[in-house]
Amino acid sequence: MADQDGWIWMDGELVPWRDAQVHVLTHTLHYGMGVFEGIRAYNTEQGPAIFRLPEHIRRLFDSAKILGMTLPWTPETVREACISAVRENGLDSGYIRPMAFLGAESMGLRADNLQTHLIVAAWSWGSYMGEENMERGIRVRTSSFTRHHVNIAMCRAKANGQYINSMMALQEAVACGYDEAMLLDPEGFVAEGSGENLFMVRDGVIHTPELHSALAGVTRDAIMTIAHEAGYQVRERRITRDEVYVCDEAFFTGTAAEVTPIREVDGRVIGEGRRGPITTDVQSRFFAAVEGRSEIHGDWLTRVV
Ligand code: PMP
Repeated sequence: MADQDGWIWMDGELVPWRDAQVHVLTHTLHYGMGVFEGIRAYNTEQGPAIFRLPEHIRRLFDSAKILGMTLPWTPETVREACISAVRENGLDSGYIRPMAFLGAESMGLRADNLQTHLIVAAWSWGSYMGEENMERGIRVRTSSFTRHHVNIAMCRAKANGQYINSMMALQEAVACGYDEAMLLDPEGFVAEGSGENLFMVRDGVIHTPELHSALAGVTRDAIMTIAHEAGYQVRERRITRDEVYVCDEAFFTGTAAEVTPIREVDGRVIGEGRRGPITTDVQSRFFAAVEGRSEIHGDWLTRVV
């Protein structure tokens, strides 16, 4: 991926993709103290548009604050960097990755003279779980790895090091022949996927776990808003694993995963074993919003001009 044409925004300027390098003693590479975002741009009738850019950049700054990192840029500069990464790479749609990390000025946990760097890359990226799974749904396995506890790594920050837990869970699920992991919180309640929030539907009501051991997903928030507007009841609460086994429908949400139906959990078929009617409805409303076809959510899109 490092060997391609294009531009990466790095500490205030666009540098050729292949030249966007760091030293091997980069602090974040050793200890994982960094924060990042995943954002999508969609191809709309008015050209490329970034979905909920201010919300993502706000979360980036929140993440940095939680980790005690000071970002030496304004949110506006970072928003502009995201726009220019899409524009200068000539993308109609794609994935945007801002990341703030600590430099190579010194090593060790006590290092206190580290510079904070920021990069923004953007590339073309299709459906994360595969186009056919957006309709057919995916197979999910409860992970043997517990999601972070609120007082260990915390979950509100989208921090680099957190993703060891996600990757171990995903590797395990894939090795067992599943598409994705469902992680439980330290008390055994459903938390989220390796990189997605989880929703389930039972008797027409939509439920999603509270945010103690899950990231405050921007897509999750959009889905809750969309579902509410469409007249569904949406409840945020603690959910048990067996409730998911017997729900009528379940789906994951995330910037990468968008709205991905779940058709099986731990060998139990969910509902009819395919995308259910409420998932279909919410998913199509979501795509209308991100592609600029919704009448009410134009403010969720930042045009790339
Ligand atoms: N949970 C985790 C652990 C994630 O990495 C992501 C992806 N950022 C999500 C949930 C979904 O968040 P969002 O909708 O903001 O992409």
